[in-house]
Amino acid sequence: MLVGHYGVALLVKRLEPRLNLGLLFGAAMLQDLVLWGLVLYGVENVHSPADYSHGRFLTFDFPYSHGLLASLLWALMAGSGGAWFALGNLRARTFLLLAAAVFSHFLLDVLVHVPEIPLFGQQSRKLGFGLWKHLPLAISLELVLATCASIIYLRSPEPTAKRVVIGMMMTLLAVLTASQLWASQPPSSTQVAVSSLFLILTTCGIGVWVDRHSNGEKT
Ligand SMILES: [Zn+2]
Repeated sequence: MLVGHYGVALLVKRLEPRLNLGLLFGAAMLQDLVLWGLVLYGVENVHSPADYSHGRFLTFDFPYSHGLLASLLWALMAGSGGAWFALGNLRARTFLLLAAAVFSHFLLDVLVHVPEIPLFGQQSRKLGFGLWKHLPLAISLELVLATCASIIYLRSPEPTAKRVVIGMMMTLLAVLTASQLWASQPPSSTQVAVSSLFLILTTCGIGVWVDRHSNGEKT
């Protein structure tokens, strides 16, 4: 799951426009940021199945970034961190919305990953409905989530924000579709970790820029 996570961030932005869009992108992608950081340090692992050219999805050992217990803890930490910096009546709302944005990553990933998302540690029971085994279905789900979220987000008042964010969503969707439908060679774990971190941090930067630019437009 990639674009669907950004869709959740756009929905949360509509619910609470005072939350920074870059922060929301980071919250929805927090567990992947942790995953790719831990992959680079050799703490979590990504594998290319022998039949990669047929299935075109990677598999993971990722109890600390994506397990159920870990996901709850990441959500709790992100919500608490956001609430700490929020002001007055925005505090409780920030906690709930940031925690929900983070935890939504677990729920969406359970839909697409093969059964590899552990409840607790790596040896515990694993979840995953394996939609990636049916790529057209998985990509359709991303498309539906991205389209619905974009339509709802389009009702926001800032014209520049609309153009940039919708352009970003379409680019992500194109990158995802190209990589999942046509890639024949599995990337190395370092390659995929570095490129994913770059992609996520770039989108967070775009979110911060869009928010600043929108605020400037309104004043
Ligand atoms: Zn993930």
